[in-house]
Amino acid sequence: MIIQWMDLGIFAFQSVKMNDMITPLSRDGGFVHNFNAGPSILPKTVLEEASKAILNFNNSGLSILELGHRTPLFQAVMDEARALVRELMQLDQDHEVLFLHGGASTQFMQVPMNLLDEKETAAYADTGVWSSKAIREARLFGKVEVVCNSAATGYTTIPKDFAVPNDAKYFHFTTNNTIYGSQWQKIPKTSNPLVADMSSDIFSRVLDFNAFDLIFAGAQKNMGPAGVNLVVVNSNILGKVKRSIPTIMDYRNHIREGSMLNTPPVFAVYVCLLTLKWLKEQGGIPAIEKLNNEKAALLYSAIDASSLFKGTIVPEDRSKMNACFVMKNPALEASFLQFTKERGIVGIKGHRLVGGFRASMYNALPISSVAYLTKLMKEFESRIP
Ligand SMILES: *Cc1c(COP(=O)(O)O)cnc(C)c1O
Repeated sequence: MIIQWMDLGIFAFQSVKMNDMITPLSRDGGFVHNFNAGPSILPKTVLEEASKAILNFNNSGLSILELGHRTPLFQAVMDEARALVRELMQLDQDHEVLFLHGGASTQFMQVPMNLLDEKETAAYADTGVWSSKAIREARLFGKVEVVCNSAATGYTTIPKDFAVPNDAKYFHFTTNNTIYGSQWQKIPKTSNPLVADMSSDIFSRVLDFNAFDLIFAGAQKNMGPAGVNLVVVNSNILGKVKRSIPTIMDYRNHIREGSMLNTPPVFAVYVCLLTLKWLKEQGGIPAIEKLNNEKAALLYSAIDASSLFKGTIVPEDRSKMNACFVMKNPALEASFLQFTKERGIVGIKGHRLVGGFRASMYNALPISSVAYLTKLMKEFESRIP
């Protein structure tokens, strides 16, 4: 078995027969290319620093897992994480930054609980699984008008022409549809407060974040480990519903307590902080967006150039985070999956609703991993008689 550097700057086994391949496991060897949809890849330096903090956090002699959340040690973590979100997103003073328990699914409930009264209407865009789930939860609190949806195209498009009623309390949409692999390229303009589930493309591209009144994102796609939500909320939209909101569900209480109303998910917040610092070191959102554009262009052009593969989403609405594609001959899918698996590709099996493949290219995924996947696509194609 000979190991040699390839032009892409990654290792690959050059062996005679496919069956001789061993499954690459070692991240240190660079053999695993993590395309998982979520929880997903984190920068290696973040994992290293987080590991150290588990044993000894900032030379305190304590593990990050053993710290009191009210200690100055952790207060500094929370303060810095919130400040970095503010800085990276260039938020104005009306926007508050919270790290809250629960996944994005908790926000499907918490948003309408805080913003929508029983007799009022909220407008929702239905562009896939996660928006449908958000719609279902909102109906528990008030009326929902689905103002546009992609159901007619099998969720392969993003709606373009639609109107939001003036009296809708807010307009909710999912900026990136993690499962179907579509993404809003333009942020819709409405006079209503704008609410966005950005779980799978937060911090991936430059947006006018102040144009949103509420942004939420589960951390585990592009920001950190599972177990914490980022919520960015314009405080001016709060305090307008008549219902009594349970203490822990009321955003205002979290704002007042500096995102420390109760014990926050300490470790998850810490790892988010490390990832945000890493992002800043990369040059912030503009720099990562450039890289994300390059990664997506590389993969989609390989898909389009191939005689075996085809994308599932109309080109103009394709997600730069989650690329979904299938094989023109579905009978080959299992062997392509096996082929890539044996060569160190992890996590490209498509969601069961879409089938085929989904390659998630979150911020931490190096472009060399995308180049490597496209190389395997070509290699597989060359083996088909
Ligand atoms: C993953 C995901 C969710 C659900 O997140 P949980 O943390 O599992 O609740 C919601 N919305 C989008 C867009 C997602 O990608």
